[in-house]
Amino acid sequence: MSGEPSAATTPLAAKSPFELRVDLGKGVPETDVRKALATGEIGFLHSFTTGSTVDGPGVRLVAWTAGCMWRCLYCHNPDTWTMTNGIPVTIARATEELRKYRQGLKVMSGGFTLSGGEALMQHRFAVKLLGAARGLGIHTALDTNGYYGDRLSDAELEVADLVLLDLKAWDPERHRRLTGREIGPTLAFARRLAARQRPVWVRFVLVPGWTDDPAEVEGVARFAAGLGNVQRVDVLPFHQMGRFKWKELGLEYKLDHVQPPAPAAVAGACEIFRRAGLDAY
Ligand code: SF4
Repeated sequence: MSGEPSAATTPLAAKSPFELRVDLGKGVPETDVRKALATGEIGFLHSFTTGSTVDGPGVRLVAWTAGCMWRCLYCHNPDTWTMTNGIPVTIARATEELRKYRQGLKVMSGGFTLSGGEALMQHRFAVKLLGAARGLGIHTALDTNGYYGDRLSDAELEVADLVLLDLKAWDPERHRRLTGREIGPTLAFARRLAARQRPVWVRFVLVPGWTDDPAEVEGVARFAAGLGNVQRVDVLPFHQMGRFKWKELGLEYKLDHVQPPAPAAVAGACEIFRRAGLDAY
């Protein structure tokens, strides 16, 4: 890495997950990006947020990695898609941040969640950072779409006390249209976590006209219930809070006219998960 970039001058903390942050690592050469990916000693972090109560048990410190290989139509953080929208941060610097919050997180029965973007785009860094958190006695969660789950060895899976697994759709064609990628690798990762009895919370975004068809929800519910290691399902209502980012970034936003689901639709989806034998919220 050529020099410690803007970490000293650009604060890592975000005001909220919806703060638009771009070009934080602008000017970092491609070779340095590749080197960071290979060693994991440096990662590209979009921001840290504190006090989250929706990214795992208790109160969480969340680090958002930069870089994602998917292009979900409803993504509320499209500014995290590019690695160079993140600040290059050393493991030592990130660990220092974790150490600051260690006691508070313990008191609030919380922990550290690594999210993104897609954290496993930088799997070497992800393993090291989650390992550092664990080394400090902090509960760890990995929020992932699972697509690159095969990059982690069985031993490396253990660095996450909990996996927050995003299941975006059930029908393979719909999944492809919604995310730009195949569903197969995510399902394979889910089965592997199940075989190793790693605790999982499933996250399912309810998008009217896309994922609210009962057959779609039932497909995800049956699959998740059959795994045997899913402790909880969070049904997340689609929202428009990230819309401005698509516009600011000059991206075509196809869900401009989609309304958030009605509370009854969210309750109905939860009920489908519950009927399958899962705890859903
Ligand atoms: S996987 Fe997450 S970060 Fe990536 S495009 Fe989808 S919603 Fe956005």
